[in-house]
Amino acid sequence: MTTTLAFIGLGHMGGPMAANLVRAGHRVLGHDLVESCLAAAVESGVERAGSAAEAAAMADVVITMLPAGRHVLSLYGPEGLLAAARPGTLFVDCSTIDVADSRAAHTAAEAAGHRSLDAPVSGGVVGAEAGTLTFMAGGEEAAFAEAEPLLTVMGKKAVHCGAAGAGQAAKICNNMILGVSMIAVSEAFVLAESLGLSDQALFDVASAASGQCWALTVNCPVPGPVPGSPANRDYRPGFAAPLMAKDLGLAANAVRAGGVDAELGLRAAELYARFAEGSGADQDFSGIVRAIRAASTTADAEKGATP
Ligand code: NAD
Repeated sequence: MTTTLAFIGLGHMGGPMAANLVRAGHRVLGHDLVESCLAAAVESGVERAGSAAEAAAMADVVITMLPAGRHVLSLYGPEGLLAAARPGTLFVDCSTIDVADSRAAHTAAEAAGHRSLDAPVSGGVVGAEAGTLTFMAGGEEAAFAEAEPLLTVMGKKAVHCGAAGAGQAAKICNNMILGVSMIAVSEAFVLAESLGLSDQALFDVASAASGQCWALTVNCPVPGPVPGSPANRDYRPGFAAPLMAKDLGLAANAVRAGGVDAELGLRAAELYARFAEGSGADQDFSGIVRAIRAASTTADAEKGATP
């Protein structure tokens, strides 16, 4: 069935996601503040809307794919999308945002007489282009059931995780595991190197033992053992370090707000924030192994210099 959709935020992710919806036969009215993003989307069949509110006013479903919670909340806010849309419109926010902001967005949508779903994604730009994203959704079952056929056009899998904000919660919990495990794997490789153990030997043992994890066996942070990992192409992303830093920052907010004793999650957020602001700005997140190695060498040199 053809649905009229408003798609707001046609950047790296939103552009190809909207294009896949057009390819599936939906009418997509698009808006982005950046003309080049909007123009690229129009090339792929998205109809140019004069404003985000104009698109929302004509849509059955409004999809947002924006940088952060403040963008979502300000677009939803007074005189914004919620006011412009017809009563009962379904709002699907696919951005990765703070759990508290996501819950506030749900509350505002419902107060305005609409239905809403948070549906952040994993899979990156490659997944957005190929239509193989994974969606993690939060909101009412009926809202999820209505959105699911659209989510499975843009992705290969959509999981309903629970009530409002549950999709964002699943995303940051998963990425907290990933950030901490990538640091653990990287530290282990640097320790192995200092002990004279080859990368391949550590990989052969740990990948078949209890150290096995995605950060080791798929996104291995050293070149060699896993030919497809970003380490083999000078750490070109993949999953860029600034995005990992962003997600760990959101996890850290939730850890503090919930009073959770997550020391490693908080430490991983600090390490990735520093890495993303420095040498990791345009690297895959597995490049953190180089920062760990560099800091270790510095420490050795300093130790050597101490009388
Ligand atoms: P992006 O910066 O490329 O795209 C965001 C777009 O939103 C931009 O084009 C911007 O102009 C537009 N925008 C901002 N405010 C707007 C407004 N008021 N009205 C209309 N348009 C507006 O970012 P992205 O890489 O596409 O990421 C989008 C979201 O997806 C983020 O929350 C990010 O964390 C999440 N995400 C990204 C990736 C990835 O690999 N890039 C992976 C998973 C999740």
